Amino acid sequence: MNEISKIAAQPAYSDTAQRILAREPALFINGEWVRSTHGKTLPVFDPSTGKQVSAIVDASVEDVDRAVAAARTAFDDGRWTGLSPYQRQRLIERLADLIERDTDELAELEAIDNGKPKSVAGGYDITRAVATLRYMAGWTTKIAGETLDPAMHPTGAFHSYVRREPIGVAGQIVPWNFPLMMAVQKIAAALAAGCTLVLKPAEQTSVTALRLGDLIAEAGFPAGVVNIVTGLGEVAGDRLVRHPDVDKIAFTGSTEVGKIINRAATDTLKRVTLELGGKSPVIVLPDADISKTAAGAARSIFANAGQVCIAGSRLFAHRDIFDQLLEAVAENAGQWKLGPSLAPDTMMGPLVSDEQHERVLGYIDQGRKAGATVLTGGEAAGDEGWFVKPTILVDVNPEMSVVREEIFGPVLTAQRYDDLEAVAKAANDTPYGLAASVWTRDVSAMHKLAAKIKAGMVWGNVPSGADVALPFGGFKQSGFGRENGSVGIEAYLERKTVSIAL
Ligand code: NAD
Repeated sequence: MNEISKIAAQPAYSDTAQRILAREPALFINGEWVRSTHGKTLPVFDPSTGKQVSAIVDASVEDVDRAVAAARTAFDDGRWTGLSPYQRQRLIERLADLIERDTDELAELEAIDNGKPKSVAGGYDITRAVATLRYMAGWTTKIAGETLDPAMHPTGAFHSYVRREPIGVAGQIVPWNFPLMMAVQKIAAALAAGCTLVLKPAEQTSVTALRLGDLIAEAGFPAGVVNIVTGLGEVAGDRLVRHPDVDKIAFTGSTEVGKIINRAATDTLKRVTLELGGKSPVIVLPDADISKTAAGAARSIFANAGQVCIAGSRLFAHRDIFDQLLEAVAENAGQWKLGPSLAPDTMMGPLVSDEQHERVLGYIDQGRKAGATVLTGGEAAGDEGWFVKPTILVDVNPEMSVVREEIFGPVLTAQRYDDLEAVAKAANDTPYGLAASVWTRDVSAMHKLAAKIKAGMVWGNVPSGADVALPFGGFKQSGFGRENGSVGIEAYLERKTVSIAL
């Protein structure tokens, strides 16, 4: 059981971090740091202490318009597409090198801004960002069209081919759970495809995205290819979505906002890709290795304090092993050391914001009131900061909000099942369809379930198999379109058919 209620104090920030946090709030537009038109700012909090540590620009509609104009010009005058694919590849690789060089600094900033452990920010978020840029850089030189013979004319009477061209200006809106990694995942594919872009990080976590602006400038990208605008979703984000000069919106965030964005983008018929929420099942068959599965199930929901779109938040264990498995998962939950983000031994930091803290505790309360039993956790921790203990709820039913809705915190619900048909039905009984994991040594059952589950990604005997080379995205209300892999590049390309009578 998790006995940790006392949370250590946040260690002192490095001089470098203090210097960066003390910078004047600014926007990265057309290769320069510029002030906002109206001078409004938003606070930046350290979730480990709940205290304000910096401020960012709360961009106005005019600020967004300036950024879009810069991206539009940079696309239309060919300063990006006019470079050879190899030159673009080298610039993207250079950005990867600079991020890698600054891993320690970026990890500290991410830990201060988001609350995740610095060790995780460095070992996972920043490392993945670098790998994503290097992988996508390779695509710049491999974008190919095709030649086809028209069906209605004699072969050879026409030369017909399909070109793949960049869509144009991309507006990219990202959430707060993996701030730099999500930003990089978005910009890497757009840049590789030849688009220019305006990035809007989440208002809760913009610090590392802004630092990215420094590195973009240092890498030597032409001015206006990448623009970074901080601010509120309903103002800056909404303007990007509606702007007539933005050709495509790539959004990662909640299903609720994804629907708003999809509606708002309709007026200009923008290309839209949506990576939204999830309520992913973790299905454990009776033959599964209990200790490996328990550790995997715990990691699936407690990593990043459960603030993960692909978090395995609904555990389905076969009746024969339910008690044994739950005991092992609860024991594992007790080993997740809660602590401030900069303490080296912290495994789980606080939630990102006061609002998220209240929201997650509110769900736990709703679960209790509806009859769920708290097996472990179930409460806040610490005198300051936004900590919630790793929590497991049993005695739940499919009608409860804790089972139906995305909590986006370290809260696992656990249910029993009897056979494959029943568990597939229960796992699919959700408006979401992002991911699922299946734990068994029975290869046949694994493949049968993989085919039955309505989700964009199914992983076997591992909490997450997400990888930059593999399509990432959801079914149903988890969104549409895919990121990563070749399909992630496709999302930033148009097809142009050229047909010439010979
Ligand atoms: P959110 O939807 O509240 O905000 C995400 C981004 O959208 C922020 O930058 C915000 O400023 C912006 N935004 C808000 N309202 C907007 C509007 N009207 N127009 C334009 N932009 C607007 O999400 P969040 O709370 O930051 O993140 C958590 C959610 O993100 C969860 O639901 C999670 O599942 C989801 N998520 C999904 C994936 C995925 O790949 N599927 C990955 C990470 C997070």
